[in-house]
Amino acid sequence: MNPIFANLPVTVFEVMSQLARDHNAINLGQGFPDDPGPEDVRRKAAEASIDGYNQYPSMMGLPELREAIAAHYEHWHKLSLDPLTEVMVTSGATEAIAGALFGLIEPGDEVVVFAPAYDAYLPLIRRAGGIPRLVRLQPPGWRLTEEALRGVFNAKTKLVIFNNPLNPAAIVYPREDLALLARFCQEFDVIAVCDEVWEHVVFDGREHIPLIAMPGMRDRTVKIGSAGKIFSLTGWKVGFVCAAPPILRVLAKSHQFLTFTTPPNLQSAVAYGLAKSDDYFLGMRTELARSRDRLTKGLAEIGFPVLPSQGTYFLNVDLKPLGLNETDEAFCKRLVAEYKVAGIPVSAFYEEEPVTSVVRFCFAKKDDTIDRALERLSRAVRGAR
Ligand code: GLN
Repeated sequence: MNPIFANLPVTVFEVMSQLARDHNAINLGQGFPDDPGPEDVRRKAAEASIDGYNQYPSMMGLPELREAIAAHYEHWHKLSLDPLTEVMVTSGATEAIAGALFGLIEPGDEVVVFAPAYDAYLPLIRRAGGIPRLVRLQPPGWRLTEEALRGVFNAKTKLVIFNNPLNPAAIVYPREDLALLARFCQEFDVIAVCDEVWEHVVFDGREHIPLIAMPGMRDRTVKIGSAGKIFSLTGWKVGFVCAAPPILRVLAKSHQFLTFTTPPNLQSAVAYGLAKSDDYFLGMRTELARSRDRLTKGLAEIGFPVLPSQGTYFLNVDLKPLGLNETDEAFCKRLVAEYKVAGIPVSAFYEEEPVTSVVRFCFAKKDDTIDRALERLSRAVRGAR
């Protein structure tokens, strides 16, 4: 048996969602919206199935979707991508990440990873033969520093995997941090694998800047996106990869043996969705920001110190000032069992020296769900005091 995989814990999202089911709890853990997603996009998928989009589509993705992805990024980020040689459709962003790591890592290559790291990164890097070099980011800023990067980048560094906006920290990196990372990638001839699935879920007028758009990064960046997050349809698993032709050719080789294709009815609906007017995307942000504010305000009122959320479906609370004397993991297990609200302990995103005082909650929920969770959390705080 492969010891890397055999010794892995069950992913924290599955653990907490199972606990939520076992205890009949409100699930603010795993990030999925209550909302069923835009009806017109769902109708397009239904029509596409009826109209015959059901056999294997082309391996690289439906031409109409690859064109829509290129047009979407041209419109939103002024990126000029050739749909034929620089865009590929994958079965979700996780497949795109796995494909990039399997395709680009040679055994012994070093890969820079920022912690908190999404839980799929490290096992996949190791299975690809890579050696992770971790940079520990810390609340409340979670910023990149020259000193931290200098400590890990070296001649053996092949890749850096960079998640922006950052889950679970809920921050949107400013241009300054991107410029710093871009400078290191160029100095050490490193490819950046950018998990930008939260690119549209940014608040308060913030702008997501794709690393691929930074000077010098166009030919050394893999940009990964996801329709699941853009359209609040997390189960669809339609992802996109954009990269310069020599890189994309390699990623296509990985993709052909991982999933080969992605359901064509969903691809057709996503192509339609990506062309929606700006109002849709801005409205989605406003609506989610409203839910963020509702949960933030409610948590603050009952005494939870909230770390501000700039993007993603998540906000974090810092347990330290509550004086609970228990770790984030212990708190989450107690919270779900006794008060019937599930959250995610942020320590699960660290392999070494975890931050153990931060808990992530998903606010992409109906007002009523948020209010009921707040009522339970208020009892949890009172009980603890
Ligand atoms: N991306 C989701 C989250 O961060 C989880 C996806 C999963 O369950 N693997 O909550």
